[in-house]
Amino acid sequence: MLLEVRNLSVYYYTLSGVVKGAEGVSFNVEEGEWITFVGESGSGKSTVAHAVMNLVPSPGKVVSGEVIFEGKDILKLSKEELRQIRGKEMTMVFQDPMTSLDPLRTIGDQMIEAMTVHGVPEDEARERAKELLQRVNLPPDRLDYYPHQLSGGQRQRVSIAIAMAFRPKLLIADEPTTALDVIVQDSIMDLLDEMKAEGTSIYFVTHDISLAVERSDRIAVMYAGKLVELGTVEQIVENPLHPYTKALIEAVPDLWSERPVKAIPGYPPDLRNPPKGCRFHPRCPLAKAGICDAEEPELREVERYHFVACHFPGGAKDE
Ligand code: SF4
Ligand code: MG
Repeated sequence: MLLEVRNLSVYYYTLSGVVKGAEGVSFNVEEGEWITFVGESGSGKSTVAHAVMNLVPSPGKVVSGEVIFEGKDILKLSKEELRQIRGKEMTMVFQDPMTSLDPLRTIGDQMIEAMTVHGVPEDEARERAKELLQRVNLPPDRLDYYPHQLSGGQRQRVSIAIAMAFRPKLLIADEPTTALDVIVQDSIMDLLDEMKAEGTSIYFVTHDISLAVERSDRIAVMYAGKLVELGTVEQIVENPLHPYTKALIEAVPDLWSERPVKAIPGYPPDLRNPPKGCRFHPRCPLAKAGICDAEEPELREVERYHFVACHFPGGAKDE
């Protein structure tokens, strides 16, 4: 096992109250797999991804849990220990590459620095930077460009080239294609697939379950700060057991059948004051009064590799 996340909770201490961004989240990532986290915005999927890198932005705080990466708890490492792991063993690609690229420095300077900080000599780093640009289908002269001289898709290629520099064990990609058009999207996904083929585990975050299906090994579904279902792609697509997962699939147009598209009624809850019991109960067509609004369902393994947090997985039982 590459990564083990146990009972992770992250809160944001805002002026208007404590937002429980993620609560009691546990899962593993295996070596060389592609796991995708899906959920609406505010479901906690980015929060958990940032916590895995120990990069939760202020005013967020990890209030409990462990993130064991190759035997070490990432949340307990010193700045220096983290510096050695980040960018080399585990790395992250963001929705907007401008958040990780420095607008005032050339692509080449930034690529070279990403390698020299880990001890690669400068001339070797320069050579490798050129090769990496080729790998992501950018001409080597882009080394002399500034980020604003590239398109959004080209900037994302540069971030992936930087991520590829050391063949990391884990790549976390948080909505890396959301801002891009469909064709560019696909070429970015292809690059992630190539990294996977070379042994990198891909931890992909998206609000779009249809993007998750084609390339993932497993899918994790988050709702209102909780992990509500986790399973192989086949299990999630063919036999979704959580009503929210079913709703997400039914909200995708023409994905697996001719059936009509159904929007999910209602809105995600306010995470300063999440609903009691199951957080999905105000929107759930199967909610049972006295149970669903009272007791919080735990994530349980209901068949091999298939976990769900629902009192009535797969639908209400006969009364
Ligand atoms: Fe719906 Fe109840 Fe299951 Fe929650 S626990 S998803 S409210 S059936
Ligand atoms: Mg997000």
